[in-house]
Amino acid sequence: MLVIDIHTHIIPEHLPDFSAKFGSSGFIRLEHHKPCCARMMKGDTFFREIKDNCWSAEKRMEECDTLNVQMQVLSTIPVMFSYAAKPAHCLEVSRFLNDHIAGIVAKYPRRFFGLGTLPMQDPEMAIAELERCRSIGLAGVQIGSHVNRWNLNQPELFPVFEACSRLDMALFVHPWDMMGQDRMPDYWLPWLVGMPAETSLAICSMLFGGIFERLPNLRVAFAHGGGSFPSTLGRIEHGYHCRPDLVAVDNKVNPRRYAGKFWLDSLVHDKTMLDYIVNLFGADHVALGSDYPFPLGETKPGELIKSMDYPAALKETLLSGAALKWLNKKVVG
Ligand SMILES: [Zn+2]
Repeated sequence: MLVIDIHTHIIPEHLPDFSAKFGSSGFIRLEHHKPCCARMMKGDTFFREIKDNCWSAEKRMEECDTLNVQMQVLSTIPVMFSYAAKPAHCLEVSRFLNDHIAGIVAKYPRRFFGLGTLPMQDPEMAIAELERCRSIGLAGVQIGSHVNRWNLNQPELFPVFEACSRLDMALFVHPWDMMGQDRMPDYWLPWLVGMPAETSLAICSMLFGGIFERLPNLRVAFAHGGGSFPSTLGRIEHGYHCRPDLVAVDNKVNPRRYAGKFWLDSLVHDKTMLDYIVNLFGADHVALGSDYPFPLGETKPGELIKSMDYPAALKETLLSGAALKWLNKKVVG
């Protein structure tokens, strides 16, 4: 059975010293302190330790073979977005990362699809880079759940979404820069509480901002099973009914109508929740996503889907059909 993982992260093995180059400390650098291992550092602050499966396409293919995953959709690690940087600096970082992913896709087209990253803080520049991403063979782009002070309904961002739709580029929205982090110093809460809230914020912003309504052909997928959106849709819909003066300001359509108009990945770690989102969105709008190679992801990509009491055809839709529909791609034979 064909298995495509839409949510995996990759970074080049060696990064230029962007902080030195741009005279600003906000950029990630890699310290290769031992073989097959590196520390991601932001200035002198330790961010995360990564292994060679985070940069080596060959190592990834080896692990995928063991895990029975035929294809991965590659995207950068959200900490690389660089939205707070000057647009020109972010563009240079983005181009570097996008060329790296495009190179891997060109080398191994049967194993990888690629998503680019864009300088979203400068929408005109973002559209130009989006066009370039398409020309170098990327299938879409990954963006953050917000862009600095902008939520995704910010009018300045609409032309970028319009360009994604026009250029047939899939859009993957990933939580990052989590809200309320200053109030969450303990228990890894930004990842456990902030991330699901960020994703729901992104979905609600696009939904109530009328993005899905105005761009019905835009294909958007949200990470982590849509975060807290699916489980709070009843509340969101009730809010729409009881306070339309606050909720339905820019879009009059019931939020529930959009279930199944965009995609979610399957990364929910819970059979009941997976079954709920499959029923809510339809199997062809829930695509396997594992967050490979990070520990909060699904260690064996597709294990939860395979464990479900579903017919084989439905499992196949979740494991690859939904991904291909979202990407609007066919597998290279
Ligand atoms: Zn992720």
